[in-house]
Amino acid sequence: MFRWKNKAVNSHLLPTYARVDLAFERGEGVWLTTAAGERYLDFTSGVAVNALGHAHPHLVKALTEQAQKLWHVSNLYRIPEGEKLADRLCAATFADTVFFQNSGAEAIECAIKMARKYQSASGKPERYRIVTFEGAFHGRTLAALAATGNKKYLDGFGPPMPGFDQVPFNDLDAVKKAIGPETAAILIEPVMGEGGVRVVPHNFLRALRKLCDDNGLLLVFDEIQTGVGRTGDLFAYQHTGVTPDIMTIAKALGGGFPVGACLATTEASKGMTAGTHGSTFGGNPLAMAVGNAVMDIVTAEGFLDGVKHNSLLLKQKLAELKDRYASVIAEVRGEGLLIGLRMVPPASEMVDELRAEKMITVGAGDNVVRLLPPLIISESEIAEAVARIDRACARLSQTYARAAKEKVAS
Ligand SMILES: *Cc1c(COP(=O)(O)O)cnc(C)c1O
Repeated sequence: MFRWKNKAVNSHLLPTYARVDLAFERGEGVWLTTAAGERYLDFTSGVAVNALGHAHPHLVKALTEQAQKLWHVSNLYRIPEGEKLADRLCAATFADTVFFQNSGAEAIECAIKMARKYQSASGKPERYRIVTFEGAFHGRTLAALAATGNKKYLDGFGPPMPGFDQVPFNDLDAVKKAIGPETAAILIEPVMGEGGVRVVPHNFLRALRKLCDDNGLLLVFDEIQTGVGRTGDLFAYQHTGVTPDIMTIAKALGGGFPVGACLATTEASKGMTAGTHGSTFGGNPLAMAVGNAVMDIVTAEGFLDGVKHNSLLLKQKLAELKDRYASVIAEVRGEGLLIGLRMVPPASEMVDELRAEKMITVGAGDNVVRLLPPLIISESEIAEAVARIDRACARLSQTYARAAKEKVAS
């Protein structure tokens, strides 16, 4: 089989991704298969997208049936599949209204516009600034990037879009200091995914809610990574005791079909009247049909209990590995099947070792390896994953033990 020698795979794609030289041809459940027939255990799920694994029959059926009927109509007309999905999302959450888009960053854009417009419609047009947190990730469009605040991602792209005040994670005094007469909202991920699977303490979220209530601000939760079952609840906020005014979701909502959504209360969305926002593709019948099919499965009796059960099982096994390989795994953290292994050696080495075991995972900030299996994973597949993680840890611990010995000897 032909393989590029260059690790930065030679292709005509803009090289913004440092891609691994590995391509998959097919997927089924938690497994991905290369053209050569090699099977990989998928603990990335397209970064929390393929929540129901690959080629889930119910999703394939929904997509192909819709494809036979209607792919696209303009949002100038009613789209019943979208109305149905919005009804279901509102029935399952705090929200009264939904705007559909095609990605997470677009959902964030909608949330930012909505928060600003809310203040304007409330007679406070001077309020447009949004407090965000260090280590956050909200997407790659210019506004989402300014909200993300990561210097590395912003560098060279000109002045960042104004209106974001970034404060340290879990520092209430810093939040209070950042709130001024121009503040419109606070934006946070209840579990910071890209930032290293950092679970935001519930008392901190509660304090943010109170600050918002006391100061007339909107609380916006970015659940693009945590939403639609990933944490073992339909949405992560639902076991925090804190309810946002606006929530963005995307990734798992389409199970692999691009879709994003911005959910809000009637009050928070009051400025978003006809003509204030739009999207050509957002809420198209194909995406909506698949979104409804994902909801069929994720909200079915017992499904989320299964996620919680598997989460406990996996975390317990990982805790045992951490005890056995203390020189490799520093910490196991996360919620549901959004799990982070904070590593002692560079997390990238663990990702490489696991790939050598034919198991794909993804790194995150804070030297973390993220484990994001499809939510439909079985107990025997969890056992298989743990065996592969065990072997990867064993190799890493030997490598580092040898390196330490050589250092002492020299
Ligand atoms: C992935 C992600 C985004 C961006 O979503 P895109 O679809 O890549 O634009 C935003 N916020 C969070 C928390 C994410 O995990």
